[in-house]
This record gives sequence, structure tokens and C-alpha cells, in this order.
Amino acid sequence: MSSAPSSRRPPDHLPLGAQQTVSGEEASASHTAAVGRARSFLIVGAGLYGAVCARELADAGHRVQVLEKRDHIGGNCFTRYHPEAGCHQHVYGAHIFHTNSPEIWAYVNRFTAFNSYIHRLHATNAGRVYSFPINLFTLHQVFGVTTPAEAEARLVRERLPIPDAANLEDWCLSQVGRELYELFIRGYTAKQWHKDPRELPASIIKRLPVRTTYDDRYYSDRFQGIPVGGYTAMLEHMLAGIHVELGVDFLADRDAWLRKFDHVIYSGPVDAFFDYSAGLLEYRSLRFEHEMLDVHDAQGIAVMNYTAADVPFTRKLEHKHFDLNLRCPKTLLTTEYPQDWQRGMTEYYPVNTDANQEVFARYEALKQETRLPVTFGGRLGEYRYYDMHQVIAAALATVSRIHQH
Ligand SMILES: Cc1cc2nc3c(=O)[nH]c(=O)nc-3n(C[C@H](O)[C@H](O)[C@H](O)COP(=O)(O)OP(=O)(O)OC[C@H]3O[C@@H](n4cnc5c(N)ncnc54)[C@H](O)[C@@H]3O)c2cc1C
Repeated sequence: MSSAPSSRRPPDHLPLGAQQTVSGEEASASHTAAVGRARSFLIVGAGLYGAVCARELADAGHRVQVLEKRDHIGGNCFTRYHPEAGCHQHVYGAHIFHTNSPEIWAYVNRFTAFNSYIHRLHATNAGRVYSFPINLFTLHQVFGVTTPAEAEARLVRERLPIPDAANLEDWCLSQVGRELYELFIRGYTAKQWHKDPRELPASIIKRLPVRTTYDDRYYSDRFQGIPVGGYTAMLEHMLAGIHVELGVDFLADRDAWLRKFDHVIYSGPVDAFFDYSAGLLEYRSLRFEHEMLDVHDAQGIAVMNYTAADVPFTRKLEHKHFDLNLRCPKTLLTTEYPQDWQRGMTEYYPVNTDANQEVFARYEALKQETRLPVTFGGRLGEYRYYDMHQVIAAALATVSRIHQH
């Protein structure tokens, strides 16, 4: 997995043009005055992208303020301690930190220690439980093979010859064949994205490994773990000494905020920033149902994927497993239901289709035209699927570009 920053970033700090929301005179003056000395930055969003930008800019001597519309920091990585369950709850879904980059690993370790959790999940379909992602044990469970050579030979027989397999279904059929695709991928993908897998690009699934060894780790990255004390504590340390205002929607007073700062780093949805004027981007949302159970361990693993199309949810999380602490006699179980997104709902995932990329390109053009002193970043600002290590790399690259200008 790459930790390279996006290649399609907006310019960081351009002079204002015709259609700006800030008056040209005011903003140009503040821009000119700011060059070559400490500048004032407003960071919109106290998620990981915003927090890393804020930390780096504050450490470089700039004046930094963070605005967050939720009543807490952390964005989707937010965790809170759940006293009854005796563990940290991953409030917006399971978050496992993983990276191959020693630099990113060293960076996050400045703010927290990590436990030794290695992500392994299982998948269930029609009452049977399977090792997942597909590895030699899965292939043993489905086909009875026991060695890498048998597994390779079986996969060769299973694969369908599909030249130029560009969509998700064709790509899976060409890699693992019909049976594994039906058992693990088709139903889950259709629920997750509410689309026929033939409408989705293969890139969505390509990061999922298919192994002919008994290695059943979800991520094969060198560094993995969960912050001891939760993600929120890690973000608190990142934001130490920085002025953060919670419960404030930047867009409710966008023009006034733009006038007050030399530069804005915006990690909210790019289409919302422009009042959806170039069209609605598509997102997936999620609904979580929580259950406190009077058992010490409900499913024996942190995440169980439900891959059948006729089960309405995609996965169940048992939070205590992330903390590697099973002592509590009760347990918190969360069921995750994918939802169609509508305005007003939380945007969890960008939906990577050609149609959405076309809408996104219109917003890119709008950014160039309006030439506001705004950097759009993070998962929603760049409308791309970033994992945590990637969003940290992107934030560090943003700040480094700002310093070069
Ligand atoms: C269900 C789920 C599971 C995931 N699991 C993993 C995982 O296991 N491993 C991994 O590495 N990554 C995972 N991720 C990805 C991870 O969540 C992201 O990489 C990371 O949170 C992105 O950080 P961000 O700052 O770009 O965005 P966010 O976390 O979305 O932060 C953006 C913040 O901006 C705020 N905001 C938006 N608009 C405004 C506004 N107008 N005014 C003020 N504030 C605003 C939002 O409230 C939010 O707090 C997962 C994501 C999801 C949704």
C-alpha cells in the first residue's frame, strides 16, 4: 500500500480571482503580508488530517485554530472508553492502524503507544465461518486443499479467462473464480456500496490479498496496532496547546472565517464547501446498532464479516478484542449497516465510480477558478479512500508544500 500523497491536489495558496467568497482586496493583502513570516491558519475538521496539519503548522510557529462541527475531536477515528464494557469503543467503526512506513510509524508513536493487536477477521456465510481474507486455510475450508502448490493449482482451475478485467466482478472472477467470489465478495460488496459489483472499479478490491500461505493477517504491513488508551487520546496529544473549537460548523459562516485567516485547510466534504453547485458527490453512510451483552466474549474475534447478500448488515465488531483485554464479564457488540447517503447524514466513504470522478473533476475546476486561499485535504476534501497512515502522509505533504510556497 502506498503512503504517497494525492497527485490531484488543489494549489495551496493562490491569489484570489473573480468569484471569491472573500473580497479580493482583503484577502490579497493578507496573503502578501503573510508570506515569509508566521501566518494564521484555520483548520476545518479535527480528524487525523486536520490534527496532523495543525500540529505541524503550530510547531513551525504559525498561529493555528481548529474548528470541528462534532462535539469531539478525532473524526471517524474517535474512540471513547465504555466503562460497562471495560474497553474503548470504536464509535465510527473498527479502526486498525497499519503502515509499512517507518517514518509514519515513528510519527504516530510520538503521540501514543500502540498495543500488539494484529488484525485478523473471519467471514461467515450460511452458518459457516471462514478464515478471511482468502488464504490457504480459506482454500482448505472451501476446496480441501492443504499445500501452497495444491492451492495454486486449484486457483488456476477456478480463474475465468477475462481479458481487461476492469470492473470489480470481472477482476475477482479472473483472480479467484466464481465460487469464492459468490461466497465472500459479491453479497458483501453489493451491501457495502449498494451497487452491482460490475458497476464498481476493480481498484476497490485490489488491496485485498489472496494468499496461498496460512498467513491470515488482514494487513501484511510491518507496523500495526491500536493506540493504548484509544485514538482520541492520540489525537488529544497531537492537538495539545492548539485552540480547538467544537460544535462549530465552518460552512455556517464560511466567508467570515475566510476573512479572519491567511489560509484555511478544509477537511470537510468538497461539494458541501461549494454548496453542491457542481453537483452532488455520492457517499456511503453507516448505521451502527450497539448491544451490551452479559457474556464475557460474544464472537471470539474483533470483526466478523457477514458476506451473504440476504443478511442486511456487513459486519459485527466486538470492541474489547481491539484492546486485547477480555477481562470484563460484559461485552459491547456493534452491528454495522451500510446506508444510502443523503444530505445531512455522515459521509463515511467516497464512492469511487467514473460518474463521481467526473463530478469531483468539476469541483477541482471550481477550486482553480475561485482561487480561494484554501487547501482541501483528507478523505472528504480530496474525495478519496485514505487509510489513517495515508491521510497522515497526505497531511505532512500538505504542510511541506505550504512551507515551500
Ligand atoms: C467505518 C470506517 C472504518 C475505517 N477503518 C479504518 C482502519 O481500520 N484503518 C485505517 O487506517 N483507516 C480506516 N478508516 C479510514 C479513517 O477513518 C480515515 O483515514 C481517517 O479518519 C481520515 O481522516 P480525515 O481527517 O481525512 O477525515 P474525518 O475523520 O472524516 O475528519 C474530518 C472531520 O471534519 C469535520 N468537518 C467536516 N465538515 C466540517 C465543517 N463544515 N465544519 C467543521 N468541521 C467539519 C468532521 O466532523 C470530521 O470530524 C476507516 C473509515 C471508516 C469510515
